[in-house]
Amino acid sequence: MLLSEVAYARPATLEQALGVLAEHPGARALAGGQTLVNVMKARAASPDVLVDLSGIPELKGIELGSDGTLELGPMTTYTELIGSSEARARPILGEVCAQIADVQVRNRGTIGGNVCASDPTNHLPPVMVAVGAEFRVSGTGGERTVPAEEFFLGVYMTAAGPGELLTKITIPPGRSDGFASVPIGVDGTCIVNAAASLNGGVRVVLGCVGATPVAVEPASADAEAVRDAVRDADLDPPSDVHASADYRRHLAEVVAARAVERAGKGS
Ligand SMILES: Cc1cc2nc3c(=O)[nH]c(=O)nc-3n(C[C@H](O)[C@H](O)[C@H](O)COP(=O)(O)OP(=O)(O)OC[C@H]3O[C@@H](n4cnc5c(N)ncnc54)[C@H](O)[C@@H]3O)c2cc1C
Repeated sequence: MLLSEVAYARPATLEQALGVLAEHPGARALAGGQTLVNVMKARAASPDVLVDLSGIPELKGIELGSDGTLELGPMTTYTELIGSSEARARPILGEVCAQIADVQVRNRGTIGGNVCASDPTNHLPPVMVAVGAEFRVSGTGGERTVPAEEFFLGVYMTAAGPGELLTKITIPPGRSDGFASVPIGVDGTCIVNAAASLNGGVRVVLGCVGATPVAVEPASADAEAVRDAVRDADLDPPSDVHASADYRRHLAEVVAARAVERAGKGS
């Protein structure tokens, strides 16, 4: 289906972008367009102005601090992150981005767009919660920092409200992370996924089993303890053509245990 007519702005600074968003309540940020344009074609969203963020230098780039903290510009593409030597400080990021869809999507899609889409089947929301990411959200009124576990509010809803932009993703240092998923086909959408981090306790975050990532904290990294914690979480996943809710609950236990095992090997 063709797109409806829409105005297009390509600001050169963050200030200009925030200005256009404030001026046009029906405007929407455009990152890689890999979700938004499809949603627009399906008429599920009809912004009146697309604010293309690709010309704003301060939204790009990957910086590694001396203490191992990563600062990621939200307009970093998956391909840029996969190829970044700095991003290897937290290896799970590149490993997971390399599993997203295909080369075309990875060349266009951005990490900021992935989390702002807040699609429950996307790869990065559970990863960001597991690694303890923090998101800087900016608007004309100022900026604030939102922990990843408070950023995802629902399907297609995040703490970045109307007129606001995600402007930085900060990832603390750590190496003992793991990810596991059951996708549809080789590089398809996930049916269930899980990210785990053993940096200071055992943290497992499940994706595709609710509107937002679901965090569980097993008593230990032992596979049975992980499966027990997932079972105790009383998940209420969707049923669809790919998997029933019961089967997703079963898969959640399996991928959680796999993610923790991989984290134990220090990904
Ligand atoms: C064939 C196909 C298969 C895919 N498979 C997968 C998959 O298996 N796993 C997966 O994780 N993803 C998958 N995707 C989605 C892909 O990863 C998208 O790139 C991602 O969901 C959105 O990123 P984007 O940069 O394209 O953002 P866009 O589509 O441009 O934007 C997405 C949303 O985020 C908002 N937004 C973007 N940037 C900002 C910002 N800085 N501040 C505030 N709001 C912002 C936009 O307004 C929009 O609402 C697939 C896409 C396609 C086309």
